[in-house]
Amino acid sequence: MSPSEHTQLLILGAGPAGLAAGLYAARADLAPIILTGPELGGQVSITYIVENYPGFPEGVEGPELVKRFQAQAEKFGARVVLDTALAVDFSQRPFRIQTTKTEYTAESVIIATGATAKQLHVPGEEELIGMGVSYCATCDGHFFKGMDIMVVGGGDSALEEALFLTRYANSVTIVHRRDSLRAGPLLQKRARAHPKIRFIMDTIVTEILGEDMVEGVRLQHVPSGETREHPIAGVFIFIGYHPNTEIFAGQIQLDERGYIQVDKHMHTNVDGVFAAGEVADSRYRQVITSAGMGAAAAMEAIHFLENRAKLP
Ligand code: NAP
Repeated sequence: MSPSEHTQLLILGAGPAGLAAGLYAARADLAPIILTGPELGGQVSITYIVENYPGFPEGVEGPELVKRFQAQAEKFGARVVLDTALAVDFSQRPFRIQTTKTEYTAESVIIATGATAKQLHVPGEEELIGMGVSYCATCDGHFFKGMDIMVVGGGDSALEEALFLTRYANSVTIVHRRDSLRAGPLLQKRARAHPKIRFIMDTIVTEILGEDMVEGVRLQHVPSGETREHPIAGVFIFIGYHPNTEIFAGQIQLDERGYIQVDKHMHTNVDGVFAAGEVADSRYRQVITSAGMGAAAAMEAIHFLENRAKLP
């Protein structure tokens, strides 16, 4: 049997949302426990440089920003634990959270488990992340000034991000696996009219090429099966995201895409369970918005715990 521990507030996830929540809760003397999940820092920890987080006019490396978030939360008494929640039970109080090492009981929970960009799962992709393979145009577009780059995907994200990337790139080639796009008509119209954007349809990327940096991709024309190499400096992959909510299904309300449904104060449908960051936000997906949601969720958790303490 795994050891057990009780806490006032358990925070699931140690990206910007979880760590900001931890900072606020720690400063309210809640001594929150923050479980990192499989990757400390979340998506920002795979971002080379964050240039749009206020306070860092020169930019800050993603892992460094996470380190600072963590140090600040720990300074006030938050405890960051390298562990992953495997199952939760929100049907009884205190809530129960089974992790790989411990069974926690918690008076309140903030879910900040984030979302994960879907990967192509082709050779070269994993190895070249941060070296020309990116899942974030806002984070990395700037590094491709004047270069020829590729966007993979045919949905709203792919077209919107491709349009954004035209600010920097010399050209943006959108590769889509079918002969018609999934994106809405307005984005399609804007992308098709843009002089820097071209399309390669009916085509998939089967390999990303390069030793230390992306140098090209291997493309396969789906109807004919023909393959060819295509030189390119960067590959931005926007084939959808999936929120990390598998363990919450049946416990709290999710929307049709699996994101946690919260009200504007970060409350889920279970009293005492809050959510913050990309697990509850498919729209903004920024460090600053996630951190802001985390702070708000912590303030709500603090109120919740105070009000409960006042009950007879
Ligand atoms: P999405 O709508 O699911 O589109 C994903 C795209 O990637 C599709 O074109 C899909 O091809 C392609 N794809 C999926 N798996 C692939 C694979 N393994 N290899 C190659 N291509 C693959 O995802 P999204 O674009 O991130 O949008 C998610 C949601 O957010 C949507 O509801 C969207 O409307 C919304 N959104 C809205 C806006 C906006 O309104 N401005 C902006 C961004 C996102 P198929 O088409 O063949 O399936």
